[in-house]
Amino acid sequence: LAKMQRERAWVEIDLTAIAHNVSQIKRLLQSRTALMAVVKADAYGHGSIAIAQAALQSGATWLGVATIPEGIELRESGIQAPILILGATYTPEQIRAIARWNLQPTLCTPKQALVFAETIATLNTSPLSVHLKLDTGMSRLGTDWQAAMEFAQLVQRLPNLAIASIYSHLATAESLDRRVVHQQQQRFETAIAQIKAAGVKVPKLHLANSAGTLTDATLHYDMVRVGLALYGLYPAAHLKSVLSLKSVLQVKARITQLKTIQAGTGVSYGHRFVADRETAIAVLGIGYADGIPRNLSNQMNAIVRGQLVPQIGAVTMDQLMLDVSQVPNLQEGDVVTILGHDGQESISADDWAETLGTISWEILCSFKHRLPRVAV
Ligand code: PLP
Repeated sequence: LAKMQRERAWVEIDLTAIAHNVSQIKRLLQSRTALMAVVKADAYGHGSIAIAQAALQSGATWLGVATIPEGIELRESGIQAPILILGATYTPEQIRAIARWNLQPTLCTPKQALVFAETIATLNTSPLSVHLKLDTGMSRLGTDWQAAMEFAQLVQRLPNLAIASIYSHLATAESLDRRVVHQQQQRFETAIAQIKAAGVKVPKLHLANSAGTLTDATLHYDMVRVGLALYGLYPAAHLKSVLSLKSVLQVKARITQLKTIQAGTGVSYGHRFVADRETAIAVLGIGYADGIPRNLSNQMNAIVRGQLVPQIGAVTMDQLMLDVSQVPNLQEGDVVTILGHDGQESISADDWAETLGTISWEILCSFKHRLPRVAV
C-alpha cells in the first residue's frame, strides 16, 4: 500500500513548513507564553500524529484536540506532551478513559465537575488536571463569566481535581472591529480578578486562537491555542502582513487519460460544460469522494506544469476533467496540483473558500482518508 501512495491522488504534507510556522508564531510570543498546537480533526485534515510530532519538535509544548479518541491516537503514537481536550466530556466512561490515557479535560459546568470528582474518586489515581472553560461571549461551551467565581471555588474544593488552567474562546478575533474582542477580554479579566479575590489559586490563563495571537499581544496570557496559522493559513487577509506563513498541505493528482473533444461536445454529468472549440481534456483521478467540493464544478482551476488551467464539467465522485488545451505535450501519469503551488502559480484553500462562501478551516478539514497523506 505504501508504494501506491502516489498512484492516483494524494495530500502532500510539508513538515518543514510546520517548523517554519511555529518559529514565526513564537516570534510574536513572550517567553512566558506557551504554544499549544491545535491538532483536532486530524490536525485540520493534515494527519495528527505527524503534525503533532513536528510542532512539538519545533517548540510547541501543548497539544489541543476536540475528542478523547483524538487524544488517545496521539498517546498511542508515544507522544507524552500534555494534551487538552477542548470539547466537552462528562460521562463516567469518558472520565475513566481520560484518566487512563493521561489526557486533560475541559470542565464546562459545575455539574460536570461533580461527576468528574466522583468518578476520579473511584479510581485511586492522583488528582486529575482539569481546565475550566468560561463563556465570555462565544455562547458555546463554558460557564457564564459572571458565575466563574462560584465555579472555580467549587472545583478548588473538590478532592481529586487540580485546576491547571482557566480559559475562554474568542468569537471575532479576526475582525477589524475590536469591540467584541475587548468585551470578551474585559469579562475574562473581571472573572479572573473575582476568582483570585475569592482565594482560588489562579493557574495558567489562555484566550487566544490564531486570530487573537496574530492581532493583539495582550490576549496571549500564559498560552495561545493556535490551529489555522500552524497550517500556514491566515484567519483574515489583512493579517498577512503580521508574519510570513507557509502553507503545509498540497493536493496532487495524476492525469489518468488525455483526449480531444470537438466543439459542441458536452463534458461530465448533466453536460454542464459544452466545449465551444476543439478542446484537449485531461481526466484526473480525484473527485468529491476525496473531498473536492462538487460545488466547485466549472469554478476551480488546477496547475499543470506551472500553468493555471480551468476545471470543466461536473466534478464526479472519483474523477474530474481539466481543459488542458493551452499545455502541450502532456502525458498520462503527469502530476497536477489541485491545491498548492507549482512554478509561479498557486491555489490556496482561501481561493476555494471564497468561491464557496465558506472558510479555509472547513476546506482543510474536508479531504477524505481515501487520499493518502505523504510527508515531504
Ligand atoms: N481554541 C479552541 C477552543 C478552538 O475550538 C479552536 C478551533 O476552533 C482553536 C483554539 C484554534 O483556532 P484557530 O484554528 O482559529 O487557531
